[in-house]
Amino acid sequence: MTRVSEKAADVVVVGAGNAAFTAAIAARRAGCRVVVLEKAPEAFRGGNTRFTGGVFRFTYDGLDDLMPIVGGTDDASDVVVEPYPAEAFERDLQRVTGGRTDPLLSRVLIERSYETVRWMADLGVRFEFSRAVTGIRIPGSNKTRLQPGAAIRAYHEGIGLSQTLFDLATKHDIEVLYERQVNRILVDDAGRVTGIQARGPGGFERHYGGAVIVASGGFQANPEMRTAYLGGPWGLVKTRGSRYNTGEVIRELLAIGAQSFGDWGGRHATPIDADAPVYGDLSLTDKTNRLSYPYGILVNLDGERFVDEGADFNSYTYAAYGAAILAQRNATAFQIFDSRAFPLLEKRYETGVPVEADNLDELVGYMERRYPMLGLDTVATLKTLVAYNRAADRGDGFKPDALDGKRTHGLRPEKTNWAVPIETPPFRAYAVTGGITFTFGGIRISDRAEVLDGVDRPIPGLYASGELTGGFFFLNYPLGCGLTRGAVFGKLAGEAAAASLGKLPQ
Ligand SMILES: Cc1cc2nc3c(=O)[nH]c(=O)nc-3n(C[C@H](O)[C@H](O)[C@H](O)COP(=O)(O)OP(=O)(O)OC[C@H]3O[C@@H](n4cnc5c(N)ncnc54)[C@H](O)[C@@H]3O)c2cc1C
Repeated sequence: MTRVSEKAADVVVVGAGNAAFTAAIAARRAGCRVVVLEKAPEAFRGGNTRFTGGVFRFTYDGLDDLMPIVGGTDDASDVVVEPYPAEAFERDLQRVTGGRTDPLLSRVLIERSYETVRWMADLGVRFEFSRAVTGIRIPGSNKTRLQPGAAIRAYHEGIGLSQTLFDLATKHDIEVLYERQVNRILVDDAGRVTGIQARGPGGFERHYGGAVIVASGGFQANPEMRTAYLGGPWGLVKTRGSRYNTGEVIRELLAIGAQSFGDWGGRHATPIDADAPVYGDLSLTDKTNRLSYPYGILVNLDGERFVDEGADFNSYTYAAYGAAILAQRNATAFQIFDSRAFPLLEKRYETGVPVEADNLDELVGYMERRYPMLGLDTVATLKTLVAYNRAADRGDGFKPDALDGKRTHGLRPEKTNWAVPIETPPFRAYAVTGGITFTFGGIRISDRAEVLDGVDRPIPGLYASGELTGGFFFLNYPLGCGLTRGAVFGKLAGEAAAASLGKLPQ
C-alpha cells in the first residue's frame, strides 16, 4: 500500500518567489517554524521573481528617503529624482485601471510600500537606482531622470533578488523543498485549513501547519486556463517568465470556497522580441522586452499603425500594448526608428537583431525578406511611414524625458508625444510580439492578507499574496507594482499567520 508522507511545521508556504519569501521570513522572524514548498526543480526555482527587472514602485519624498535603501550599493551623483507621494501613486493606479482597483487593497499597497521596501533593505536585500529600465537620459547633460515611483530596483535585478531571498531563507533556517507541486489544500470539518498535499519526487506528501500561506503565482503559463479566461489568441502567446505558474493552486482555492476576485480576463503583457522563446529563458530574463516604442512608430503586418506610441511614458502603456500587438495579424508588429532615436533605445535592445538600412524603401524590403512567412505588406508599410513623416512635428522642443506634446495631426491613431519624423538614416526595424507576464484575476484577500470566502469571512488558517490575488490590477498596470504588491502582502501574510499562532512580529 502506498503511504502518504506527513510532516508538520507552524507555517507552510506554497511557492518560492518574492511574495512567498517575504511571508516566510516575516513568519520566521516572529518565531514560527516555516517550510517553503517550491514546484520547480532547484535549477529553475524562484518563479517570475527571478525573471524580473527588479523594479519596485513605492512612495518617497525625495533622495533622502531613497539613500537608506540604495546606500552602500549606489550613489546619486548622476540621477534626478522627483518626489512620489501617496497621492501620485494612487493617481497612477486609478488612471491605468480605469478607477477599478480595489480601494482597500490599493490603499494598503500604497501606504505600506515604502516601509516594506525599507524592511527588505534592512534584512539585506540590496537595491540600486533603476537607470537602465526607468531612467531617461536628459539631453545635453550627464544626468538621468528616473520615472517617478519606479526609481529603485533590486541589485542585479530579479536574479539578484531571488538569490538574496533564498540566501535569507537559509540564514533564517527556513526549509525549502523543491519539486513539490501543491495540488490540494487540506481543510477540517470546521472549515479551518490544516495543511496542503503536494506531489513530491517520492509520491504524495502532506504538510500540516497552523497556517498555510499561498504565493504560487498566476495562471499565465497554462494555455488551457489562458484560453478559458483570457480568450482565443492568448492560448498561443509566449510566456515571459516561469513556466511553472500554471494556476492549479488557484483552482484548488476556489474549490475550497475562496472568493474569486478581480479582472479574470486581464493580464500584463508587453511588447517583446518576436524571436523570444516560448517560455522565459533565465539567461535573458526580462531582456526580450522592447519598450522604446515612444521614440519610433509601431506598424502591423498590414502596414498600419494601431496604437498611440506616445500616449504616455512607457511605464504606463507597456503592460497594455503587448495585448494590442497580439491582436494584430500573426500577433506580430514592427517597431521602426531612425538613427536619432538609437541612443534612446533601452539597453535591452542589444539582445535583439534588428533589420537595418540606409533608406526607408530598403528597410521595408529587408523586413519582408527577413520574415517571409509573416506576409508583410511592404507597399502599405512604406505609405504609412511617408504619411507619418508628413504629419510629424518638425519644430524644436523634442524632450524624451518629458511628455513634450510633439504630436501628429491628421493620423488615425494620432501620436501625441515625441512625434518627430523618422528620416535620419540609418533606419532600424525590430519585429515584436506580445508576451504575457502575469494574470490579474485571482482570489480575494483582506487587508491582512487573509483569504476571504464567498461572504467575505477569512478562511481560518489561510493567507495569500502575490500574483494569485485579484483586485489590484484591471486592464493595465503601472510598472513596478508586482514586486511591491507581493512584498507588502507577503510580509502582512507572514505576520498575520504568526499572530494567529500567538507569535508577534520582530
Ligand atoms: C520578465 C519579467 C519581468 C518582470 N519585471 C518586473 C519588475 O521589474 N517589477 C515588478 O514589480 N514586477 C515585474 N514582473 C512581475 C513580477 O514577476 C511578479 O509580479 C512577481 O514576481 C510575482 O511574485 P510572486 O511571488 O507572486 O510569484 P512568483 O515569483 O512567480 O512565484 C511563484 C512561485 O510559486 C511556485 N509554484 C507555482 N505553482 C506551484 C504549486 N502548485 N506548488 C508549489 N509551488 C508552485 C513557482 O514555481 C514560484 O516559485 C516581471 C515579470 C516578468 C516575467
